[in-house]
Amino acid sequence: MSAPETMRVAIVGGGLVGSLLACYLGRRGYRVDVYERRPDPRRTLSEHGRSINLALSERGLDALRRIDLVDTVMAPALPMHGRMVHDIAGRTNFQSYSAKGDRAINSIGRSALNETLLDAAEATPGVTLHFDVRTTGYGLGPNSLALARGDVLEVVEPDIVIAADGFGSAVRKSLEAAGRMSVRTEPEDHGYKELTIPAVNGEFAMDPDALHIWPRGSSMMIALPNPDRSFTCTLFWPREELEALSTPDQILRHFNEVYPDAVPLMPTLVDDYLADPNGLLATLHVDPWQADGKVAVIGDAAHAILPFFGQGANAGFEDVVELDRCLDETGDDWSLALPLYQQRRQPNGEAIAWLAKENFIEMRDKVASPTFRATKSVEHALERLLPGRYLSRYEMVSFTTIPYAEVIERDKRQRSTVLATLAGVGAVAVGTTIGLIGRAARRGA
Ligand SMILES: Cc1cc2nc3c(=O)[nH]c(=O)nc-3n(C[C@H](O)[C@H](O)[C@H](O)COP(=O)(O)OP(=O)(O)OC[C@H]3O[C@@H](n4cnc5c(N)ncnc54)[C@H](O)[C@@H]3O)c2cc1C
Repeated sequence: MSAPETMRVAIVGGGLVGSLLACYLGRRGYRVDVYERRPDPRRTLSEHGRSINLALSERGLDALRRIDLVDTVMAPALPMHGRMVHDIAGRTNFQSYSAKGDRAINSIGRSALNETLLDAAEATPGVTLHFDVRTTGYGLGPNSLALARGDVLEVVEPDIVIAADGFGSAVRKSLEAAGRMSVRTEPEDHGYKELTIPAVNGEFAMDPDALHIWPRGSSMMIALPNPDRSFTCTLFWPREELEALSTPDQILRHFNEVYPDAVPLMPTLVDDYLADPNGLLATLHVDPWQADGKVAVIGDAAHAILPFFGQGANAGFEDVVELDRCLDETGDDWSLALPLYQQRRQPNGEAIAWLAKENFIEMRDKVASPTFRATKSVEHALERLLPGRYLSRYEMVSFTTIPYAEVIERDKRQRSTVLATLAGVGAVAVGTTIGLIGRAARRGA
């Protein structure tokens, strides 16, 4: 075991998770090199001027709070206190995310978030960022990384390698090829397209305090607000269907039928639809997450998941917090810390992958139904009645740091108590039902 100042850690990928990890490890005193294949996004025009956002919730905020970055990141964020469900007739229904209506998830620009994290990493003593450097493989020598700077190839041999290079991780592929990691990819039938609802006369075209959803069974569109008062819409649809719309007429006809209230707000719909490549979605199952206490995967490289709970980046940030905790607990002995990190995080990676799939069904099929709305009302009533004791699945995932695997177990226990109580009660008035559920839950939920 060596002192951090004498150890070199290479982080592959300077995306959201890699740049946050660099901040954490730099603060511990390590000499950290981040190798990022893209040019420095702070010096180039990324995303062709379009705003692309993501929802940051408690797990991500917790990771930022611990290194005093939360205020900087949150300055331009837009809180969303609930879902605004748009039905096919254009009617809307607002569903609060929490019982008291006081909790919000936050819409954040991806580029702005990445740039803030890169700035913070660069300002951390010991951290060096290398842009335009692609990692081509791992493991030609002991703990060696093969790097390509344009045509120039080089090999480095850091003490520790952490792969934060996302879904297509080159490091993970090398470990898989060497039989040191196994990877199962579950492709998703649905792909996605990113579209835009621009500002109207400098103002938001819809309520910015909500995540807007158009649930349509096999397809679903969502929209999150941006600081420039536009909304980024993401249309999820089976890939063949996305591809089948190929002319302006087809696109307009389909949207007028399925998303009629959105069409007047989307003046660039046809151009956006034809220009935006179809995004692919998949879930990754990786095992193990580390090898020999010297190399590990983190973030999407370890657990790419479907985006339907808005948790991919949040979960990746939580990986960073856990790795930091494992280093604390093992006195920076990586040979102990990496196995501990895997033992604690891998079950949670699997759990959030499952929760994300379940939430897709909820979002696309259930949110519009009266039964769903009634269930949410009962859940919120229970949350008010039993503060801290009854927490809905959404509440636990988005507004706490309860480990994801524990969320599933606790949710199961709560649901069976509620069902058992409802079965015993039969068709009594809702007020009485809630009272009985409350008493039953107090006894054993
Ligand atoms: C449609 C959609 C919506 C989403 N919405 C949300 C949301 O609301 N909330 C949320 O928390 N998450 C969301 N996510 C998930 C989130 O985007 C990812 O979980 C997050 O970006 C993962 O971060 P990462 O740093 O692990 O990987 P990435 O963001 O993929 O970053 C990997 C980095 O590594 C670099 N890289 C790759 N290969 C190499 C190489 N060979 N050499 C060097 N560098 C390399 C890449 O250029 C990139 O910078 C969404 C995802 C999708 C697809």
